[in-house]
Amino acid sequence: MTALAPAVFLDRDGTLIEEAGYLDHLDRLALFPSTVDALRLLARAGFRLVVLTNQSGIALGLFDELFVRQTHDALQARLEAAGARIDGWYFCPHHPAGQVEALTMACECRKPGPALARQAARDLGIDLERSWMIGDRWGDVGLAATAGLAGGILVRTGYGRSAEARPAQGTQAAFVADDVMDAAGWILRQGR
Ligand SMILES: [Mg+2]
Ligand SMILES: [Zn+2]
Repeated sequence: MTALAPAVFLDRDGTLIEEAGYLDHLDRLALFPSTVDALRLLARAGFRLVVLTNQSGIALGLFDELFVRQTHDALQARLEAAGARIDGWYFCPHHPAGQVEALTMACECRKPGPALARQAARDLGIDLERSWMIGDRWGDVGLAATAGLAGGILVRTGYGRSAEARPAQGTQAAFVADDVMDAAGWILRQGR
């Protein structure tokens, strides 16, 4: 039995890549300048790296699951070309008020719901209590509480600045970081 590893769960849009509204074309994919270095740093420190992303555009009929998988393949290829990689990609395709009937529901996997983090923990052997979440919305930070993580970090990229200006009732960030690299540095300074 191998020991469980800590993970850093990462939001995708506005955290690893530029927020593009509902990203619906691969031409619009743009990694932030420090994303690759942040991922390399965290991986070297022994963290599994897992993307958790709400993709309600699928339930809203804006794009399909295949497009989301192709986006993740394209991102992984870009990261690997630069010496970084994501260990697991998980997305929620649902929305409580969608257009696609089968995906219109209040689910457990839409962040801050814990289902995607729990699934990743089973798939990848992750110790949730020693893991962190990084994201640009309160729904990302809030997942730290629902999934029983060590804490959630809000980044000021993407929608992060407006989130910071409008604190969420009952959701507290362990740290507010300028970007994903700032968040990674803070995590590494916490010791484990
Ligand atoms: Mg985001
Ligand atoms: Zn869902």
